[in-house]
Amino acid sequence: MCGIVGISAETNVAAEIYDSLLMLQHRGQDAAGMVVCDSDDKLQSRKSMGYVRDVFQQRHMSKLIGNYGIGHVRYPTAGGAGKEFAQPMYVNSPYGISLAHNGNLTNSTELGKQLFHAEMRHLNTDSDSEVLLNIFAHELGKQREIYPSAKHIFRAVTKTHRRCDGAYAVLALITGHGILAFRDNNGIRPLSIGIRQGKTRDEYIIASEDALFESQGFKKLRDVEPGEAIFIDKKGNFFSEQCAEMPQKRPCIFEYVYFSRPDSKIDEISVYKARMRMGSRLANLIKKQNPNHDIDVVIPIPDSSTTAALQLAVDLNVPYREGFVKNRYIGRTFIMPYQEERRKSVRRKLNILDLEFEGKNVLLVDDSIVRGTTSKKIIQMAKEAGANKVYFASAAPAIKYQNLYGIDMPATSELIASNRTDEQVAKEIGADWLIYQTLDDLIASCKEGNPEIKEFETSIFTGEYITPLGENYLQELEISRQDEVKAQREKAKAN
Ligand code: AMP
Repeated sequence: MCGIVGISAETNVAAEIYDSLLMLQHRGQDAAGMVVCDSDDKLQSRKSMGYVRDVFQQRHMSKLIGNYGIGHVRYPTAGGAGKEFAQPMYVNSPYGISLAHNGNLTNSTELGKQLFHAEMRHLNTDSDSEVLLNIFAHELGKQREIYPSAKHIFRAVTKTHRRCDGAYAVLALITGHGILAFRDNNGIRPLSIGIRQGKTRDEYIIASEDALFESQGFKKLRDVEPGEAIFIDKKGNFFSEQCAEMPQKRPCIFEYVYFSRPDSKIDEISVYKARMRMGSRLANLIKKQNPNHDIDVVIPIPDSSTTAALQLAVDLNVPYREGFVKNRYIGRTFIMPYQEERRKSVRRKLNILDLEFEGKNVLLVDDSIVRGTTSKKIIQMAKEAGANKVYFASAAPAIKYQNLYGIDMPATSELIASNRTDEQVAKEIGADWLIYQTLDDLIASCKEGNPEIKEFETSIFTGEYITPLGENYLQELEISRQDEVKAQREKAKAN
């Protein structure tokens, strides 16, 4: 996962891009970067590994002068982790293009070969974002225009859509010309536009999530449509065009479950409200499965499950209690490469309030179960704290398949539910009762916020992928994502 933002304004944008990246930090903590363009058409950039606050120091900020720019926070999905993967990425020709990408291309290996053999372009990493940048640059270069207009740029986006499969929400800075945004034809990853009145012109922001608009004085204009491209030239003129042949809105449902901020609206669905509805539907399921349940208390696993857990407790008419206190200064446990380290760090991340558990039948609520590491450890902690029975509810259905569209999920074989029944998962994590949200209920929870959305991207639950896939793609990805293979890759790099 990644977060992207682009701003076009009358005055310097670096400070606002910085603030925006801070608000998108949850979408990626591996690396951060920004590039801005000044009135002499010169670029200034800074990118590095680490949190936003560590990457940008005062000495960097004072050099980032320019009234349009783009920024990126990275969470490693495709390729690997390392400085060379930090974005925005840059190619010199044509015009000097910088690109920030959220998502994952599913045909980047094949495109990489085309770029090398037929288009004489060099790729320095195995990052799919570098492939995407070069495909777009190649298509824009083919227009052979010294001063490209929005029409030429949109034509290059159309060609890019034809060649790229997978998920991509993109911001590109075309040096001396302006900012371009586009979204894949399913709109899998989110992208929203905001507008603000400047002294002489409208100013724009385009970002992964709209939660950051208000605080910077922007009003939401709308979401970028699937397949659509937006170009804001350096004077602030706004252009848009549908560049895909068969666009269809199918946003990733996991954004609502886990990834996005609760204060964002993604494709007009409030993430907060969707999570409340997930809680309500879970409560109904519990009542249906066991009308005489003996749950004494509902306890969320902080943070992303708290909204669903609170609503669940209200609907069940059972007290809601905080049973865990999170240490906010520890990074996400998920990104640690080794299983043993991961296990230990759940303990370091969450501290238990024993009194809320002693002698009670507790229902723990999490947004999802991935490897099962967190749930297993937490159930053990609850039992050690004196809980009588420990039940577990997941606001998402069982995750059985790997994610191809930009969410860092492990290999299918490492997902606890991939080859287990619900009862077997319950046994494995030590739960006395495990309740998974049904997919229909999850979809209904989201859809209620925008009934016009007919379909969501739900492949991690169903294994049905909505974009074309190469013959061996799934098997190759499966191997490259296994913990052991990742560890070997890191070791080889270190040597
Ligand atoms: P696990 O311990 O592997 O079952 O992970 C489950 C926990 O990880 C849940 O508490 C989720 O909030 C969180 N989670 C779900 N998906 C991801 C992801 N892609 N990256 C990081 N954390 C995640």
